[in-house]
Amino acid sequence: MSDGINIISLEQVKKTYGKGTDALLGIDLKIKKGEFVFIVGTSGSGKSTLIRLLLREIKPTSGTLLVNGHDLSVLKRRQVSVHRQGIGTVFQNFRLLNDRDVYENVAFAQRIIGTPKHEIKKQTTTMLQIVGLGDKMHSRPDQLSGGEQQRVAIARALVNHPPILLADEPTGNLDPKNSWEIMKLLEEVNKNGTTVLVVTHNREIVDEMKKRVVTLHNGKIISDERKGGYRYEED
Ligand code: ADP
Repeated sequence: MSDGINIISLEQVKKTYGKGTDALLGIDLKIKKGEFVFIVGTSGSGKSTLIRLLLREIKPTSGTLLVNGHDLSVLKRRQVSVHRQGIGTVFQNFRLLNDRDVYENVAFAQRIIGTPKHEIKKQTTTMLQIVGLGDKMHSRPDQLSGGEQQRVAIARALVNHPPILLADEPTGNLDPKNSWEIMKLLEEVNKNGTTVLVVTHNREIVDEMKKRVVTLHNGKIISDERKGGYRYEED
């Protein structure tokens, strides 16, 4: 790996929830700009806590957490939304607006940040073509397959060109064929320069793709491999 800059850097990050549950016990993790990283681990290992910390939904109990050059421990309230604009998010259940068409679902993300109208049209259309939905722009999400809905979510996540894409179980609701198509799309997105983090339980995909794999267990990183596989057994 070349000496690129760390786009994400955690040093001794601990998270203890209110009632004394230790969710992360002191995590050190550095992710360089342009990397593709799988985050795996059994249920309760700390994956969601890590995601919520990166999105600054919660703060670490101690340690240092830098994302896109922001120190998340000292971020002011009004800087939080700017920070979140730097991370496109994709979830297992798509989280699309079912009363709006595909175009609107993606364009909406641009309106929020005040993109000029003509730019919205250009960028939304381009992004939907990139994800292979140029001909479905005026369908409603519930008229699409699961794989297509996830493509809309990916287009929405990327339309504002965030440097990081964070996908939480993106294939959790998809059949194997659609799962592979979504992963190939994420690989493409990564090749075009976006840093991609994928939290997943999909053993076959992790084993096949030969990417960096970070494994969490009981709040600790128990392995971090360059071209890794799915290391642990389910409980
Ligand atoms: P994963 O996403 O890998 O399943 P989590 O980050 O959700 O793991 O959970 C890690 C640990 O923190 C678990 O023991 C879980 O019960 C606990 N935990 C998660 N969220 C909370 C919360 N809001 N309050 C208290 N404990 C929590």
